[in-house]
Amino acid sequence: MPGGKDSGHMKRTGRSAGSAGDVAYRVGLGFDSHRYIAGRPLVLGGVKIPFLLGLDGHSDADALIHAVMDAVLGAAGRGNIGERFPDDDPAYEGADSASLLRAVWDELAADGYRVINLDCVVVAEKPRLNDHVAAMRRRLGEILGVSPARVNVKPKTAEGLGSYGRGEGLAATAVVLLAAPMDSRAE
Ligand SMILES: [Zn+2]
Repeated sequence: MPGGKDSGHMKRTGRSAGSAGDVAYRVGLGFDSHRYIAGRPLVLGGVKIPFLLGLDGHSDADALIHAVMDAVLGAAGRGNIGERFPDDDPAYEGADSASLLRAVWDELAADGYRVINLDCVVVAEKPRLNDHVAAMRRRLGEILGVSPARVNVKPKTAEGLGSYGRGEGLAATAVVLLAAPMDSRAE
């Protein structure tokens, strides 16, 4: 019986009881940065954050969502955000990046992908983001169809170093582990 007294001594067969059998695991990495500019709202992880500056970019410039999108596209071996949503395409001017991520994820989910976990770092000297982490985790989890417990967001400052340290903009990185159908390995 799993979890029984002797389970630690059971002979291993090469496939743990926790693996579903026909699942492959794929990891993806994403990075993005945008410059601060006056006159735009600050949107991060699909959450509007009160601040005197927003991020400059063709879309809503949500650097965290952009990093997450590149991570999931990378894990699936399906290119990158710039190929999907070119920044010279008027269709994406001012676009809601959360909606774009939802469209990308709906495509992957339809092909059998699911998120094991997502971990993110946001490097921002200002504003302080700690009070918004829970909302960002909820929003990202909702878009990706998983519990916020599988989504982690870690705000960091740059300790005053370089352009991020001077508060000229912010950067985000994301790493995601996806479970994929076994037959997707050859894509
Ligand atoms: Zn971006």
